[in-house]
Amino acid sequence: MLPPGHIAAGFLTAKALLHFIHPNLSVAQQQSLLCWGMFFGAAPDLDLIYNFLKLKSYRIAGKGAPSHRKYLSHAPILWLIAGLTVYFLAQDDYYRTFGLLIWLGSWTHFVLDSIDYGIMWLWPFSTKFYSLRNRQADVEIGGSSFIGYLWSFAKIYSKALTFYLEIIIIISALIIFMRY
Ligand SMILES: [Zn+2]
Repeated sequence: MLPPGHIAAGFLTAKALLHFIHPNLSVAQQQSLLCWGMFFGAAPDLDLIYNFLKLKSYRIAGKGAPSHRKYLSHAPILWLIAGLTVYFLAQDDYYRTFGLLIWLGSWTHFVLDSIDYGIMWLWPFSTKFYSLRNRQADVEIGGSSFIGYLWSFAKIYSKALTFYLEIIIIISALIIFMRY
């Protein structure tokens, strides 16, 4: 999934969390948490910046591009530990909710990454990638130029279930953002 989808999913996660736990917060604090939800929804993919700087390549998948999902930034247990640590150390509702968002925002990301590509859900016990459809292996993106690469990526991505889910998530987030 691309950043817009992850950001929208993070927004929906924060919105749902605030709805279910009813923390004692001001409107400004709730808005701040919605922004953090969007951030944590996309945050694991910040490792792409590292990939970009290290490899000096725009390729995010396919031949010659090692999966950024094997980095620790895509290890669910680390986000769980970070989130629960903040939750249990927090002195007020804002930081307790913030802790839950670190965990749930990032895990929304991992669930969505698990549809087509796969995540190392059991790291550090196993480095196996778990995915619903196991397309990781067949992704072979051609194109030698930047435009060629983008075109090839778009052709493959438009056949992925993730693509359609991403559209639904973005539309849902926009509707909820405008109505509530
Ligand atoms: Zn990711």
